[in-house]
Amino acid sequence: MADVKFFYGDDVPLEMHKVRIVQKLNLLPVEQRWEAVTAAGNNTFLLQNRDVFMDMLTDSGVNAMSDRQLAAMMEADDSYAGSETFTKLERKIREIFGTEFFLPAHQGRACENILSQVYVQPGFAVPMNYHFTTTKAHIVLNGGIVEEIFIDEGLKVKSNHPFKGNMDIDKLLALIEKYGVDRIAFVRLEAGANLIGGQPFSLENMRAVRRVCDRFGLPLVFDASLLADNLYFIKKREESCKQMSIREITRELADLADIMYFSARKLGCARGGGICTNSKEIFQKIREYIPLYEGFLTYGGMSVREMEAIAVGLEETMDEDMICQGPQFIAFMTNELEKAGVPVVTPPGGLGCHLDAMAFLEHVPQVQYPAGALAAALYIASGVRGMERGTLSEQRDEEGREILSNMELLRLAMPRRVFTLSQVKYAVDRIIWLYENRRLVGGLKFMEEPRVLRFFFGKLNPVSDWQAQLVAKFREDFGASL
Ligand SMILES: *Cc1c(COP(=O)(O)O)cnc(C)c1O
Repeated sequence: MADVKFFYGDDVPLEMHKVRIVQKLNLLPVEQRWEAVTAAGNNTFLLQNRDVFMDMLTDSGVNAMSDRQLAAMMEADDSYAGSETFTKLERKIREIFGTEFFLPAHQGRACENILSQVYVQPGFAVPMNYHFTTTKAHIVLNGGIVEEIFIDEGLKVKSNHPFKGNMDIDKLLALIEKYGVDRIAFVRLEAGANLIGGQPFSLENMRAVRRVCDRFGLPLVFDASLLADNLYFIKKREESCKQMSIREITRELADLADIMYFSARKLGCARGGGICTNSKEIFQKIREYIPLYEGFLTYGGMSVREMEAIAVGLEETMDEDMICQGPQFIAFMTNELEKAGVPVVTPPGGLGCHLDAMAFLEHVPQVQYPAGALAAALYIASGVRGMERGTLSEQRDEEGREILSNMELLRLAMPRRVFTLSQVKYAVDRIIWLYENRRLVGGLKFMEEPRVLRFFFGKLNPVSDWQAQLVAKFREDFGASL
């Protein structure tokens, strides 16, 4: 199905860049990987990067920058107020998104903090296609209620729905009815819905959400952190958009929102973030929070170098040759695993390849954290670091009972333009080996369980000696090789 340029042969993606700066990697022997993951309490967040071969934990702040971005960083104009660099970024944002006002912030969650403080009051609901961890935390902190109204297909692991990130319009109408317009803070649409596998929404869906917002006078907030992947999918999968340019699609999406915010750790391949709007009233309402939490209005906590890099990064995001790289590598990895029978989330989304740990380790009960166990097992088998997205990432309820997650995923993020195809093939090869030996993998139990954000800091032990058996089998199959 090579409907995409830059594929050759049997759906093999082609890198449209060359590598000019490299960073050396370590691949520890399997015994040392086992030691390292044990020292990290079987929590991949606590691994040291020097012990990791392929870091697929996240795409945040780790995408490769271009030669033009690095060159632009040298031109940064460093001043507390009135920096020329800020003006350049503001101009670029105006040109691409058509928004008049830009408020800089140090990263995506900072925008969420401010928007939640401005709009969310106790008992207010925020309907959204799906939550992101930091979004939810800020809304809840302000007394708000997160209402997820994804389409039913959204949580189906195996699917061929092209836009699993769509919002269900009937559910939105029902929520407005339930809460009343006055108790809805805003409607939030997230591009490339992160926690359900980087799944996009369609332009048509956003238009429909906009019509509802217009009808009830509700503000539409657009989280554009994962916009690049979503743009690519709209262009590739939405029939009516095939003739539109990436720039035209971007402009239309931005026009549909009242407020747009983004993490530049993702969008623009740099670090930082900000809030864009065309409304002077909204701008003035939000503006005062920036100096309070972020920094002066012409930097908002970002370094001028990063702002230069974002301006160039945003421009490069308008280039299909650039934004196709992530999704094509992810599609390759997902398809190779699927061919081998490994349970993965389909269709391939943005952000990364997602293993379905519930099916992969069907013998491990959810209270023993199958996605966490799979993360530890994969690190032992390969030196690849992924991120658990399942029950371990939830928090216990007030009575201390486990809240079982809808899905148990091991997310293998694909930082853009960072890995070569042979590295991706290596990861695929080891995952297939692990799948063939999945019966050897057991669950995990907490040794140290923090009350909040346990997935960041918690430490766990294997429930049995399964890791010793896994290492022994690895040696048997791979001999002296790493
Ligand atoms: C990463 C992310 C955020 C938060 O951005 P940070 O820069 O990490 O604070 C918000 N929304 C989405 C969809 C994200 O992926």
